[in-house]
Amino acid sequence: MSNLELLQGGELLPLVEDFYTIQGEGFHSGKPAYFIRLGGCDVGCKWCDAKYTWNPKLYPPTGIDTVIARAVECKAKSIVITGGEPLLYPLQPLTSRLKELGLKIFLETSGSHPFSGTFDWVCLSPKRKQPPLEEAFARAHELKVIIETEQDFEWAELNAAKVGNDCLLYLQPEWSRREQMMPLIVEYAKSNPQWNISIQSHKYMHIP
Ligand code: SF4
Repeated sequence: MSNLELLQGGELLPLVEDFYTIQGEGFHSGKPAYFIRLGGCDVGCKWCDAKYTWNPKLYPPTGIDTVIARAVECKAKSIVITGGEPLLYPLQPLTSRLKELGLKIFLETSGSHPFSGTFDWVCLSPKRKQPPLEEAFARAHELKVIIETEQDFEWAELNAAKVGNDCLLYLQPEWSRREQMMPLIVEYAKSNPQWNISIQSHKYMHIP
């Protein structure tokens, strides 16, 4: 294992930033939430809007108690753990302590690494370059597929075939292609109403 025994079993995490904002995407869109963003991702999406997170060495290991203390100071009832790819790290210590404090915990993940931790909501956003592990599909409450080209609808269906019956399905335009893709997404959802549309509303609100 190493990397300091994977940051001492999850007691330390490479913290990029933590902040109180509004969840902009998916089912919980519009909900105030405290975001904890972890560094490190090996998926490499070319349109990633968090490329600054990819190298975890840029982010010094931070004790989870430091982050938890800041999270409980604000009025948020929900915590979003995002990245980067948060599942690169053991998340049980962080999530169990946040749960003990009565907070709801949401995860944003590509599902490409093994699960750890306890979550109230898992948003699985599958990426072609490094598809989800099988276990991720059963854990997903929400499948959020990014649509960059027309071929991505097929990718969306391939992933939708693997999630549970109760998993909500979302199509979200890749931000730089939203003008071209949105009309196609609207028509696709109208023809296939098991799909919902997610937009990156935080970008319209000019918040992080
Ligand atoms: S999985 Fe997420 S964080 Fe990683 S490269 Fe893709 S969009 Fe960026």
